[in-house]
This record gives sequence, structure tokens and C-alpha cells, in this order.
Amino acid sequence: MRPFEYVRAADAASATAALSAMPQARYLAGGSNLLDLMKEDVERPTRLVDITRLPLREIQRTRAGLSIGALATNTETANHPLVRENYPLLTQAIVAGASGQLRNMATNGGNLLQRTRCNYFYDTSMPCNKREAGSGCGAREGLNRISAIMGWSEACVATYPGDMATALYALDARVRVRAPDGRERLIAITDFHRLPGDTPERDNNLAHGELIVAIELPVPAGEFARHSHYLKVRDRASYAFAMVSVAAALDMDGSRIRQARVVLGSVAHKPWRSAEAEAVLVGQRADEATFKRAADAALRDARPLAHNAYKVELGRRSVVRALMRASRLA
Ligand SMILES: Cc1cc2nc3c(=O)[nH]c(=O)nc-3n(C[C@H](O)[C@H](O)[C@H](O)COP(=O)(O)OP(=O)(O)OC[C@H]3O[C@@H](n4cnc5c(N)ncnc54)[C@H](O)[C@@H]3O)c2cc1C
Repeated sequence: MRPFEYVRAADAASATAALSAMPQARYLAGGSNLLDLMKEDVERPTRLVDITRLPLREIQRTRAGLSIGALATNTETANHPLVRENYPLLTQAIVAGASGQLRNMATNGGNLLQRTRCNYFYDTSMPCNKREAGSGCGAREGLNRISAIMGWSEACVATYPGDMATALYALDARVRVRAPDGRERLIAITDFHRLPGDTPERDNNLAHGELIVAIELPVPAGEFARHSHYLKVRDRASYAFAMVSVAAALDMDGSRIRQARVVLGSVAHKPWRSAEAEAVLVGQRADEATFKRAADAALRDARPLAHNAYKVELGRRSVVRALMRASRLA
């Protein structure tokens, strides 16, 4: 590990000031991703700004729905009665991730910002445009079994690996961030992460120094809370990142679908919300034939690489399975 400064912030203003004063500074929350990357020499911050003492841990009802503090842990969030009752999809997604010990350390803000698990990003002897802009992409023509099938660019085929964010896309979450000048803004979760394009070194649309303070969820529409399911398919039954995951939520009127949310995880540089699948579902009867049409629409534009064509069929089947479970047909 390289030497770095350590600063413990007493409040949000001093945290954002300490961060924005240095281009290579990083916030330190649970440290479960950042410290691993520092040990691997992938991330080389010159200053860590410890934000763990900031009062950003509350989970509370608001007029608009629910506000979940950026420093609430994944465990606290998944177990919170208001989350379990009103957003069971979020609880399912969080507990599908990592292990109990990691979820006790992992914060919601850090979870949103976790970096890709692309092997070429971690291997500093290989080229990676995300790790080092302009160095090339080892995965494009390399071993790309876990890489993207949607939205990738010649510069980067990495995926965003997180479970929680995939559910947040289906729940129309917004991320509240605070800038160094004290101003706050809300970012729709679908605009939070980026596709790689020519700048894969940027994972998201946060400006340097911006601090995530909370994740805000609207009151769940209609019956979304009753008809939702998070499906995660992985190499091992637990403690593994998804090959493909699906967050599905349906608002149903009897057997008819009023509104639908279909989001695929681990298939792109950001969770992939499928407007095409949702359009197929709205107004239709909830049954397997409808779900298969929606799954075909969701994967129609997939562009697999040499070693990950399996994700296209796996994605289709996972969409059908998640929708069957959400509608309680399976
Ligand atoms: C072995 C292992 C298995 C895992 N399996 C899974 C899995 O199956 N599914 C899954 O989803 N995740 C998985 N994870 C990832 C884990 O969930 C993340 O490491 C964790 O959520 C990161 O949270 P943290 O608080 O530790 O973040 P940190 O490591 O402290 O920070 C991560 C990044 O976020 C930034 N940051 C943190 N908080 C803020 C904030 N409030 N505002 C602005 N920037 C901030 C930091 O500067 C850093 O860049 C796994 C991790 C490990 C080590």
C-alpha cells in the first residue's frame, strides 16, 4: 500500500472541504471496497477522509416516502421494519449480496459506489481503461465471461456488480448529494451511474467532492410492494457476485398488469432498466407467455462477447422467473 493522509471529518462541511481540496482524495466509509482496491494498488488515494462519524445513519419516513442515510449499513437497511414492509425488493437484493459480516460493514453510499469486479481492472499488469485511461481494454478480446452484454463500448466491457442498486432502479430511488458549497441536489438513480463510452474511468455522475447523504424512495406505487422479486444467478449459492440478476416489480389489478419494473443487474456498466420489457407488460395479463415476450424485448439488443453469450439466454430466463415469482405464479 502507498502512503496516504488520514483525516477524520467531524461534519459534512469539513468532509467535503477536505475531499475537494485534493484531487486524489477519497471518502472512507465501511472501507470494504476501497481498502481492498488500495491493497491491490488499483486505487491510489493520497488522502482518506473518514466519514463514519457523520450523522448520516438514520432511516426515516418522509412525506415523499423513505429516506435512508448514506451511512446506514446494508444490514441495518435490509432489516429495518419500514424497508421490509414497504420495499421488500430492497431487502431481498441487499441480503443476496456479499456475506453477513460484509453487510455489517458496508454502507449504502459505499455500496452504490462499489467498483467493477472485472478481472482486468484488478490485475495491474494488464491494460484497463477504467483503471488507467488510455491503456486499453484487456477484457474486450480476453477472458470476458463476466463482462457486459449491453451498453458496452470498445473502451470498456466491465459491468457494475452491485445488487442493492439494481433494486433501487426498480424502486425509482433518488440519491441526495451534498456539494462542497453546501448545496444539495437529488439525482434520479437511473442517471447516477454511467455507461462507459470513451470515459470508463468515470463510473458515475458525481462531481469530485460531492458526498452522498441519503437515498430517497418514493411511496411504493400501487401493489409494487406485494408483487416484487429479486433473482440473483451466480456461480455459487452464496457469497458470489451475480452473473445475471433481475429486479422485478408489478402493480397488478387482479391478473392485469398496471405498471411494471424490470431491471437487469451485472449485464452492463450500470443496472439496466428495460423500458422495452416494461412496455410489453403494461396492460397485459400476468402469465408466462407475456413474461416471455417481455424477456425477449429486454434482451433483444444484447451484444455478447466471445465468452458470455450464455448471459443472453440466462438473462431471458431470469426475467421470466423473476416475473413469475413477483406475480406469485411460481
Ligand atoms: C468478498 C466481497 C464480496 C462482495 N459481494 C457482493 C455482492 O455479492 N453484491 C454486492 O452488491 N456487493 C458485494 N460486495 C461489495 C460490498 O457490498 C461493498 O464493498 C460495500 O457495499 C461498499 O461499502 P463501504 O461502505 O465498505 O464502501 P467503501 O469501501 O468505504 O467505499 C467505496 C467507495 O465509495 C466512496 N464512498 C463511500 N461512501 C460515500 C459517500 N457517502 N459519499 C461519496 N462517496 C462515498 C468511497 O470513497 C469509495 O470510493 C462484496 C465485497 C466483498 C469484499
